[in-house]
Amino acid sequence: MMNYDIAVIGGGIAGYCAAIRSQQAGKKTVLISQGQSALHFSSGSIDVLGRLSTGERVEDPFAAILQLQNYPFGSSALPGQADLQQHPYAKVGRSAVEQSLLWFKEMLAAEIQFSHQPDYANHWRITPFGTLKATWLSQPYVYQHRSQANFREIVIVALAGYRDFQPQILKDNLARVADFAGIPIRIATIRLPSVAHDQRHPCERRSLDIAHSLQQASVWSSFCEQLTRMTCADDLVILPAVVGHGDGMTTLAQLQQATQRHFHEVPTMPPSLMGIRLEAALHRIFIQAGGIHLKGDQVLSGHFAGESLAEVYTRNLTDIPVRARHYIMATGSYFSQGLQASRQAIKEPVFGLDVAQMTPRTQWGTHDFIADQPHPFMTFGVSTDAHLHPSYRGQRIDNLYCCGAMLAGYDPVFEGSGGGVAIATAYHAVTQCMSDTLCPADRQEVIS
Ligand SMILES: Cc1cc2nc3c(=O)[nH]c(=O)nc-3n(C[C@H](O)[C@H](O)[C@H](O)COP(=O)(O)OP(=O)(O)OC[C@H]3O[C@@H](n4cnc5c(N)ncnc54)[C@H](O)[C@@H]3O)c2cc1C
Repeated sequence: MMNYDIAVIGGGIAGYCAAIRSQQAGKKTVLISQGQSALHFSSGSIDVLGRLSTGERVEDPFAAILQLQNYPFGSSALPGQADLQQHPYAKVGRSAVEQSLLWFKEMLAAEIQFSHQPDYANHWRITPFGTLKATWLSQPYVYQHRSQANFREIVIVALAGYRDFQPQILKDNLARVADFAGIPIRIATIRLPSVAHDQRHPCERRSLDIAHSLQQASVWSSFCEQLTRMTCADDLVILPAVVGHGDGMTTLAQLQQATQRHFHEVPTMPPSLMGIRLEAALHRIFIQAGGIHLKGDQVLSGHFAGESLAEVYTRNLTDIPVRARHYIMATGSYFSQGLQASRQAIKEPVFGLDVAQMTPRTQWGTHDFIADQPHPFMTFGVSTDAHLHPSYRGQRIDNLYCCGAMLAGYDPVFEGSGGGVAIATAYHAVTQCMSDTLCPADRQEVIS
């Protein structure tokens, strides 16, 4: 068996944040993670709260936490289960949400220098579709828009033969944004010298392939030379995220140094380098803090003993249990199989935890896919108490905490709150574990 203070299940942003905070607090921590997280699809910016469920836009996300409404779940299938789930931010509380985001920024500072607006308001980032999206914390080469822009030109960088970024769509939509009215927008197409991989797979060039080809000196100098020639210092240069893989911000800083341009880095179609960069940084921080990562392993089941989770079993360790005083679960939503939907019901597949959801199925979605209100199914998830303890058949499990996208009571897409909820709930879960004075310092790892 393997014994830990805290076992974290799931290696997305929530799982990594929980594991890092736990390890940095001196708890012997294991992180068990199965595969790619939503970060591989993400912009790499952290959305805290962009709008309320009413559709009302949010300027100060922390102040707006006080206005969050509970989502209804109709009649409950289980005795004792609430018909209403509080929003995760309401459970964490405004000041801890803010504290968690500042902790996150500080924790990553040596790897990625995230920043926010000085007055703590949301800023707008230009998306790959040329729309504006509210977010709170952005990576260093993301232009944080607030009001009327003042650039000579906006230049959208295209890469010849690269299909995962559509500059014309970005240009057409951006031209409709009032804040950019009067600023010429043009596309500058860069042609990179072809490398062996491109010749073999001309239609398969992804962001990571381009990032690797830019590591060759001749490709790099051609890229920098064309970029400098095609743009000016007082332009906003919109650059698809294809620069710097595996080295944090180093290559982007070199690009800025070489060209002296004002960049706005936009995520591309997956693989999204900006999210992958964040995941890689979180991984390094956890390992450097001394954490143990069972990467590529999957928790399959566990045993409950009364009100506690006693042990969990993984695919790779087969009959060797992983035991911990506390377990933090961050297995994500439908996207990562943390929740599974059948035609009849939504379930949490590892332990069968109670899920807040509506019946009948006809109430799961609204009529329009892109609607002006949240889709109910997006607010379904594991129901927890204010300490983030889930329940199993109505019985609260007091050493298990759930966080991130698996939680009920919010719609990360409609609200624009995915990254913020993941960080805040992970932080809150570790705070709960640390306030348990019974946590034994069983530092002996035993494999039998
Ligand atoms: C396409 C897309 C783009 C997004 N873009 C943004 C954005 O730009 N900014 C933002 O703030 N939010 C964004 N969000 C929302 C945000 O990314 C998510 O809410 C957040 O990343 C969820 O993190 P998580 O750690 O809870 O879950 P996930 O990222 O889904 O991670 C869960 C992890 O758990 C693992 N796992 C699942 N089951 C098991 C198991 N049994 N054993 C071990 N491991 C398991 C999964 O493999 C996965 O690695 C986006 C979401 C999506 C889907």
